[in-house]
Amino acid sequence: MTGQHPATIQSRVLIVEDNEDLGNLLKDMLEGAGHRVCLAETLEAARQQLAQGGFGLAVVDIRLGVGGSGIELLHDLAPRAPDVAVVMMTGETTIQTAVDCLRDGAFDYLVKPFRMEELRSVLARAQQRQRKLLAERDRIEDQLRVLGRFPSENPGPVLRVARSGLILYANQAGRLFLEQWAVDVGQTAPDSLVRLIEEVLGQGRTGDIEVEADERVFSVAVTPIKDADYVYLYGHDITRLKETERELVTLKDQAQHMALHDGLTGLPNRMLLEDRLNQAIAHAVRHRQKVAVVFVDLDNFKQINDRHGHRFGDRILATVAQCLQSEARRTDTVARCGGDEMVLLLPELDGPQQALTACERIKHAAQTQLSAQTGVAVTLSMGVALFPDDATQPETLLQMADAALYAAKLRGRDDVVLFSDSGAIKAFEDRTRIRALLGRAVAERSIQVHYQPILDAATGRWAGVEALARWHDATLGLVEPGTFIPLAEEMGLISELGGQVLETALRQLAEWDQAGLPLTLSLNVSLRQLFKPDFLTHLQALIGQFQIDPARLIVELTESQPLLGLESEAQRLEELAACGIQLSIDDFGRGHSSLSSLHQMPVHELKIDMQFVRNLRSEKGRHMARAIVDMARALGLRTVAEGVETVEEASVLRRMGADRLQGYYFARPMPAAEVGVRLRSQPPVIS
Ligand code: C2E
Ligand code: CA
Ligand code: CA
Repeated sequence: MTGQHPATIQSRVLIVEDNEDLGNLLKDMLEGAGHRVCLAETLEAARQQLAQGGFGLAVVDIRLGVGGSGIELLHDLAPRAPDVAVVMMTGETTIQTAVDCLRDGAFDYLVKPFRMEELRSVLARAQQRQRKLLAERDRIEDQLRVLGRFPSENPGPVLRVARSGLILYANQAGRLFLEQWAVDVGQTAPDSLVRLIEEVLGQGRTGDIEVEADERVFSVAVTPIKDADYVYLYGHDITRLKETERELVTLKDQAQHMALHDGLTGLPNRMLLEDRLNQAIAHAVRHRQKVAVVFVDLDNFKQINDRHGHRFGDRILATVAQCLQSEARRTDTVARCGGDEMVLLLPELDGPQQALTACERIKHAAQTQLSAQTGVAVTLSMGVALFPDDATQPETLLQMADAALYAAKLRGRDDVVLFSDSGAIKAFEDRTRIRALLGRAVAERSIQVHYQPILDAATGRWAGVEALARWHDATLGLVEPGTFIPLAEEMGLISELGGQVLETALRQLAEWDQAGLPLTLSLNVSLRQLFKPDFLTHLQALIGQFQIDPARLIVELTESQPLLGLESEAQRLEELAACGIQLSIDDFGRGHSSLSSLHQMPVHELKIDMQFVRNLRSEKGRHMARAIVDMARALGLRTVAEGVETVEEASVLRRMGADRLQGYYFARPMPAAEVGVRLRSQPPVIS
């Protein structure tokens, strides 16, 4: 590095020529061209001249006679290029040597004898190249200067450490960084860094470690420098990154916990239960043990809820959860699978008797604790299924425990019942068979659709139909939707089944349309089906395919399946409404009426539960039906009364202002082929 900036070409020219005449001639020529020129006749004289400095160009004869060889001088000068540019002079006989000199660093050569023009152009060429090289060197030196400032101005720690571990240099941040080990420049680096350096040098590539210093975290990278006996260490502050990383881990843990636990009781949910059950079974197989799956249910929980309110009900549930947990062994699992149903998993048992004893003990202790803590006498019912005695599949064990619990309830509650003692075996086998047949029916698309006509109360004319699924099985006969719809829900088939009903009914509606029967079509949609991601796209595709006016479609949602009040649910309902499809609340008044949320939902219609129609005979019953109709009207909703079986009911409802009527009095659900005929005939009159 010269340190000079910018580089300038030294003006003096040295001529090295042993022939005095030729030397002087050259000198004259160059001086005439404006150069300052010195002449040397021997190698020795040339070296002395050069030692004084200030030469930018040397014109050197290859043969200096007794004075030595010009090539030696070239070897002296070549390392000083481009500060000094060397042009060799040669006679005819040594041209090849002159050409070789180019490889050794000469800028150019002149063949004697030469004319003035040749000399000028060779020198001009050499100088031009010299200028270019000098400019390039300047550029590189500039860059090196900037790079040289990098360690000192780097906000992170930068250290230069000798292979021996001695700290040679540290920038300001580096010295602060070293303070935690109480070492400084001139001392040996701390062990952790020395180890890292050794490792990196051993492997011959960069490496890094994380170092915590003064509540900050640094990622320290070691960069070996080629052919140097030191390495550079660069520290990068990653404190913020680490914090974010920790936050993410916590969030992930929380999300995972939430996904596997019940929000109210903090107990494992069904997913985690299934996982634990699988583990317990695997363990039991290895150790020839048994596992009990116990369904636990609070007796009369609904009454408690109704009497004391939901909050109290929730508190009872949380207390039961806590009592069960405190009574169970550490290896047992207590899970909540929704509603008031909890599941106990008791591994490492040797037989049914031990399972029964354990259940009785837990039940008794939990009940005692419960009444002490809540002041309410709550009893529990339990249903027990045993692996491998009853079944070997987790799913089947759960279903069997459920069936045993059902048997316990039938036996008057407050009881522990083993599946094998429950008398539920036959029912269970039937159910298993029905499940298999239903699976096949859905797969074969053999579920049919019947339609029940609906009347406009004001005009007394047919207004629409409700599609109702029908399952006709060769061996089972006609199976009620009340049986197979919940089963399909449980088996995860409801979307598929519902989708088939949707397609059949929409195709049918289009046919009636063409036959000149404009109707509305009411469709029962399970919430599980509704909230499937592709529900809307499927429905819209069908609407497009059959060219149906969406305003003629009414989606009935059953109130008995409570909405969870989730944002995504509200959004799906809004999307449906935005498509122009109408929403109806089915069986209104039967479940826990979410009256308060009705005005927030994009609902168009209420279907008054059949129970209210049955109760019309009593004063109080009429009162309630009227209240619902009035309320619906106030909210701008259409009312449909279903289950109308007599002309009296029909006329009372019409007078109350119910908008639509549906029931056996007018028409039963029937196959599509009969609907056309029926709807062309006069509906029964309402007096
Ligand atoms: P829902 O939606 O309340 O349907 C009305 C039920 O009442 C139908 O029973 C119908 O046959 C019956 N019904 C109609 N008029 C009268 C009457 O005057 N008196 C009496 N006692 N009953 C009457 P169904 O067809 O057995 O359906 C039962 C339930 O199954 C339906 O209740 C509905 O919730 C569900 N369901 C039916 N088809 C489907 C479907 O495709 N998808 C879904 N998700 N659920 C369906
Ligand atoms: Ca319905
Ligand atoms: Ca209904």
